Amino acid sequence: MRTNKRLVSCLALSLCFAGGSIGAFGQKKKQIQEQKPGFNLFSKEQDIQLGKESAAEIEKQVVVVNNPEVVQYLNMVGGKLAKSKRANEFPYFFKLVNDDSINAFALPGGPMYVHTGLIKAAETEGQLAGVLAHEMSHVALRHGTNQASKANLLQIPLALGGAMAGNGMLGQLTQLGIGLGANSVLMKFSRSAETQADYNGALMMGDAGYNPIEMARFFEKLEAQSGKSSKMAAFFASHPSPGNRVKATEELVTLMPKQNYSGDSGQFERIKAIVSGIPAAPKKELQQQQGSGQVTGTPAQSRPSGRTRDFRNAAVTMRYPDNWDVMGDPNANAITIAPKAAVAGSSISYGLIQSFYAPQNQTSINVQRDTQALIGQLQQGDPKMKVVQQNNTTIGGVKGLATVLQTGSGYPNETETDLLITAPHRDGLFYIVIVAPSSEWQTARTQFEDIIRSVQFVQR
Ligand SMILES: [Zn+2]
Repeated sequence: MRTNKRLVSCLALSLCFAGGSIGAFGQKKKQIQEQKPGFNLFSKEQDIQLGKESAAEIEKQVVVVNNPEVVQYLNMVGGKLAKSKRANEFPYFFKLVNDDSINAFALPGGPMYVHTGLIKAAETEGQLAGVLAHEMSHVALRHGTNQASKANLLQIPLALGGAMAGNGMLGQLTQLGIGLGANSVLMKFSRSAETQADYNGALMMGDAGYNPIEMARFFEKLEAQSGKSSKMAAFFASHPSPGNRVKATEELVTLMPKQNYSGDSGQFERIKAIVSGIPAAPKKELQQQQGSGQVTGTPAQSRPSGRTRDFRNAAVTMRYPDNWDVMGDPNANAITIAPKAAVAGSSISYGLIQSFYAPQNQTSINVQRDTQALIGQLQQGDPKMKVVQQNNTTIGGVKGLATVLQTGSGYPNETETDLLITAPHRDGLFYIVIVAPSSEWQTARTQFEDIIRSVQFVQR
């Protein structure tokens, strides 16, 4: 198969899927609305792992300056912000990039890169802290992996298992178009994510003793100049302006505890002078990473052994064949269980995937409609995929749909038959899909049915 939450207490599903943006700027609430991460198939650990892999890749492509004074300073300012509970306890670190464009960017899980151009453009430590707090809020609120999760690609669970399959998560996501490029959903944020990052960032600034209004004023100043200078183009392309930042932040500040803003270290002018003295470096071009792989062995070698192990994640418990491997993090909301030999790049030719589909702009789950949308998504990625049969079924005691699909197989001279089971769930449309060459369904049908029958939903 060419593979591509939290409903409780949310009145409208679409608002939850929009990233938990309820109560950010724009709604005149009389109290602070704490911002929370939205729908996400990744675990926090997977955000961190993805960030590590991405950082290694980024550092091949940018010029990192190891000036100890500046780097120590950035980590001092960022470290104060990271202590805020609104930073969501990610392992943040800060590096200086020799690049005159006015930019800074954060990777999932905490790595952050600050351009020399940003420090030169800022006038105060508070302005610099404001950009860091905004970027850190994208990390804390997990916007990158939230957007990747909402892309509804069936390959996501497989990509999340990629680290185990030896290809690395980033390599797998890159094959799906979710890599590090400027237009990647990991790096390019929606306006509602921007509003949320401003709001959360302002609260973080207050927690660290900086005046939140400095962030809003600096962004508005840069926005005003962005028509005349291309130095901010990259920042505003990936962080579209939510508009009225100063007014929105002023309103928020009236809800925050009064304070004297004593966070400034008094070192900014000296650091800015050091940065201004760093000679410019030639730019490197961003390159996409390529992953690859081939299905190995025969279908018979990947056939379920008849012996099983127990699996449990936040959503389900089930049994799976002991000759298959769990790929990914059981704390995540998506998992692939398959023999390593049957996984190649972003496709799986024998095994199972369990995950959730996030219906777009819907307020509740409708199994018939949302299964249709999921199948449409699959067919977009694999035009050869056909629906052969569809029946009502139950899974874990819940009424759902069983759909049989057929397409080409990763094994030579084989077709593939997939059994897709879908059911409503508080986290979205639950699905489990068993993938195998069509010729295997005769021999292994009983084992496949045992897997499906073993599924139980975890009660929360
Ligand atoms: Zn942003």
